[in-house]
Amino acid sequence: MEQQIQLNDHNKQEYPPMHTCEHIINRTMMNLFGCGRSVSAHIERKKSKLDYALESAPTEDDVRRLEEAVNIVIAQGLDVTTEFITQEEAQGRFDLKRLPDDASETVRVVKVGNYDECLCLGTHVKNTSEIGTFKVISHDWNEEAKRWRMRFKLVAP
Ligand SMILES: [Zn+2]
Repeated sequence: MEQQIQLNDHNKQEYPPMHTCEHIINRTMMNLFGCGRSVSAHIERKKSKLDYALESAPTEDDVRRLEEAVNIVIAQGLDVTTEFITQEEAQGRFDLKRLPDDASETVRVVKVGNYDECLCLGTHVKNTSEIGTFKVISHDWNEEAKRWRMRFKLVAP
């Protein structure tokens, strides 16, 4: 069954612990700040950066709250699972505007426990216990663009 599913190639192979952590960070940012998922992402093995469109700059306390919330999710040892659905089934459940124009009819849902689900073709860890500890290295605010850039690393589990 599964070999008949045609999926678009993911254009990059991201380091699975970092990339899976990105899913958790996105959901946590949505929960804490009511924003959308990152507007730009640069994921690498040693350090990564994510940009968010926000109304105002998060405070140092906000950053600590983000770290704590993400690490609590990681510590729960949640399974990361995938599910294949059609674009039609994905309507209303996911933001399909983020799909490339040539996306295949079948899309892949990636779930981190019951904490987050999104459409993704990247490479993930099997369980959040493989991620390590999330640590924000630095962050800055661009008032003109209303963009918050955050750099982070993972401390090995
Ligand atoms: Zn992913």
